Amino acid sequence: TQRFIWPMAQFGQIINMYQRARASSARIFGLMDEPSRLAEDPGAEDLAVGEGDVVYDDVSFGYGEETIVEDVDFSVEGGETLALVGPTGAGKSTVLKLLLRMYDVDEGSIEIDGQNVRDVTLKSLRRSIGYVGQSSYLFYGTVRENITYGTFDATDEEVREAAEAAEAHDFIENLPDGYDTMVGERGVKLSGGQRQRVTIARAVLKDPDILILDEATSDVDTETEMLIQRSLDRLTADRTTFAIAHRLSTIKDADTILVLEGGEIAERGTHDELLSNDGLYAHLWGVQAGEIDELPQEFIDRAQE
Ligand code: ADP
Repeated sequence: TQRFIWPMAQFGQIINMYQRARASSARIFGLMDEPSRLAEDPGAEDLAVGEGDVVYDDVSFGYGEETIVEDVDFSVEGGETLALVGPTGAGKSTVLKLLLRMYDVDEGSIEIDGQNVRDVTLKSLRRSIGYVGQSSYLFYGTVRENITYGTFDATDEEVREAAEAAEAHDFIENLPDGYDTMVGERGVKLSGGQRQRVTIARAVLKDPDILILDEATSDVDTETEMLIQRSLDRLTADRTTFAIAHRLSTIKDADTILVLEGGEIAERGTHDELLSNDGLYAHLWGVQAGEIDELPQEFIDRAQE
């Protein structure tokens, strides 16, 4: 995800205003708004989501010659949470870009409630999928506008309820102008944990059928982390969720965990099942829990292959 954003940010000092505006809108939408170069089928119909079952059938994909995602095969029942873990570059974001149809699969298919993502309108597909993550940013505008973005007809009451569900209402009320406080670049500076909760409120209001969570790595205190976790639990309950996690503790309760290595599914199961497998996941867990000092060399070698 970030690959598309940071190269622009690094040139921040020399880019002109026009590019600046484009860079910041790219940041707001991140994964969701990467322009799709794909054509829509002339007869495409809107995606109709029922249960929210998602099936990847032997999906392979490469950006160029090289295969990046190979024979990825899994299904998620409506309402369940599937977590994707694995080393940087393993293909986690790529797997989800294919769901959003940022790119088309080379082989296999992806279906949502029996509808191939290739056959539905892009607008309905993107509308059905919400994104909360590292690249969802705030734009310069009021807190209210930042929450209602994408849901233009929301009432003040609905905005407040979304903020409450996101554990954001209390701090918003304490800002100089409450919901009318200007935030984002040049606005009141919010902490990382506050910004995250505003973007969670945005997703609560959007109420998408399917959610993609790309765990933010921002440092927050334990209290804020607890609030964020609680609001995410509310947001993901009964909603098909794909979570990319860096800290394994946040996805411990996922219904299924897929461990990706070099674009392939290396392991799959629940947290407990994976621990007893004693493979990559169990070792990553050991490192993060402080039980072992470092990842055994064999796993590092494999990740670099
Ligand atoms: P992860 O999310 O697990 O860190 P990614 O899906 O971002 O992994 O990346 C998987 C591989 O695909 C990496 O080798 C990365 O360099 C490559 N890659 C990602 N995006 C692109 C792109 N737009 N063009 C070419 N290669 C890409």
